[in-house]
Amino acid sequence: MYVSSLRQHWRLTMAFTEGEHYHSHFNPRVYIDSFYVCPSGHPDENCLSFVLRNLSETFSSGRYKGQTLIEVGSGPTVHSVVSACDHFQDIVLSDFTETNRLEVQKWLRGDEGCFDWSPVIQFVSELEGKRTPKEMEERLRRTVKQVLPCDVRHENPFHPLVLEPADCVLTSLCLEAACKDHPTYQQALKNVTALLRPGGVLIMIGVLNETFYVVGEHRLSCLPLSQTFVENALKDLGFSIQKNDILPMPDRDKNKVSDCEAFFFLIAEKMKNV
Ligand code: SAH
Repeated sequence: MYVSSLRQHWRLTMAFTEGEHYHSHFNPRVYIDSFYVCPSGHPDENCLSFVLRNLSETFSSGRYKGQTLIEVGSGPTVHSVVSACDHFQDIVLSDFTETNRLEVQKWLRGDEGCFDWSPVIQFVSELEGKRTPKEMEERLRRTVKQVLPCDVRHENPFHPLVLEPADCVLTSLCLEAACKDHPTYQQALKNVTALLRPGGVLIMIGVLNETFYVVGEHRLSCLPLSQTFVENALKDLGFSIQKNDILPMPDRDKNKVSDCEAFFFLIAEKMKNV
């Protein structure tokens, strides 16, 4: 009761930290150092292996492959496309802030001092048992062709660029951070899914009923979502939901980095006639 009224208080008194706020309050390195140093993720949440296992299972199935995969709102990360990179010819990563994009580019070039993704890559390599971590890393660096600016609030998130319709669009923990209310979220989902060809697949990783997350000393807003809201929003856009795997957070009160209730991993296919 006390916790929920605190959350309510926080939501009512603080403006939603969207867009421009990320330029000054989201430190890419602090973010990856907090959430991505090891395959289990942040100790308060332990959800990264859930995400990596689901991604691995999804792409290893062989059902989702093609020419292009676009990830929207990658932040400073590459973990979401480690399993995918064997199944697509071109991967486009993207984010709203330049500092996030630079952090990814540093890793792609192998610059000195870039973030060490090898524990995550090693975990995926062991899960799949097909390629060595070194082979996966090389393939990933070769397949990511561009790291573009984007804004999911725009009808075309890549304006003024117009991208070819993609076979797969992936987005992780971005829309609920970028959208201050439910109509904005529905519109952003429409903008992002319009990047897919008919018959293409959306893979979305997100959080349920979260109002904030913490990056270093900064607290960032999150739009609280219910499973039904997300699924209905996709059905309204002509998607058929193939999977929605939910990982509940057992120790919500002990979690100091967010008030997330659950993680979800969703696969939805865009119907051919939309
Ligand atoms: N995908 C990463 C990062 C999630 S953090 C992961 O799974 O860990 C949220 C990301 O959303 C940040 O990188 C932030 O820069 C980005 N973001 C915030 N507003 C955005 C907007 N309007 N359009 C696109 N990305 C946005």
